[in-house]
Amino acid sequence: MRFHVLTIFPGMFDSPFAEGVVHRGIDAGLIELHVHDIRDYTHDRHRSTDDYTFGGGPGMLMKPEPLFEGVESIRAKHDTPENAPVILLTPQGERLKQPLVEKFAGEDDLILICGRYEGFDERVRENLATHEISIGDYVLNGGEAAAIVLVEAVARLVPGVVGSDESTRNDSFTTGVLQHPQYTRPADFRGMTVPKVLLSGDHARIEQWRRRASLRRTLQRRPDLLEDAELSREDREFLDSLKEEGHQ
Ligand code: SAM
Repeated sequence: MRFHVLTIFPGMFDSPFAEGVVHRGIDAGLIELHVHDIRDYTHDRHRSTDDYTFGGGPGMLMKPEPLFEGVESIRAKHDTPENAPVILLTPQGERLKQPLVEKFAGEDDLILICGRYEGFDERVRENLATHEISIGDYVLNGGEAAAIVLVEAVARLVPGVVGSDESTRNDSFTTGVLQHPQYTRPADFRGMTVPKVLLSGDHARIEQWRRRASLRRTLQRRPDLLEDAELSREDREFLDSLKEEGHQ
């Protein structure tokens, strides 16, 4: 899978991917990360990527020309499919959630555009981007941190990048609910003990405990997720019993 990022700060992508899981995926040839400087697609002496806003107002806007040219150049140079997603990082976009991350992980190429200043000329949204994505309801100084989040979330779903596919399958959101609490050694740490069932070796009971702990946690913290989660009859009965008890 190939990620192509357009940014005016290419150096911001060095350190986040110099270590860790994504770095290993790149080393193993499972992922490619191509970071492109938007200034390389400017033609004026100052290599300007921004300009003032028509109609007045504070701040500057990302100009359309270098962004269109940048995407066209990436498409030509890397022979990306014509329908490869062109993702504009913007606080006004669709909120990034796991189902969308999974959809992006099914693509061969993703082109990401990082904004700066007051954002983008509207024609970039209308005629270049295929997706507008926000990583949350807050405003960052630029799209780089958001692009790093998106690359990290998508890359870990590329087969082989995370050591065991099972660990990504059991993650929060992937299963539609939050993951159950987990413990490691020691079994007794300063008198704080691990639930006995987890030490029992009884896999059926452990599975039941985990499922119930996961449902309880989701009901407490993110009841909205339960509306779309795949729930068995047993799950529903357990949730009903929790609700009757008042969420214990
Ligand atoms: N004036 C814009 C607005 O009100 O929508 C905000 C511009 S912001 C200061 C500059 C850039 O940071 C944006 O163009 C976008 O690329 C990025 N950005 C800021 N917050 C973001 C978020 N929550 N998710 C994704 N990108 C974001």
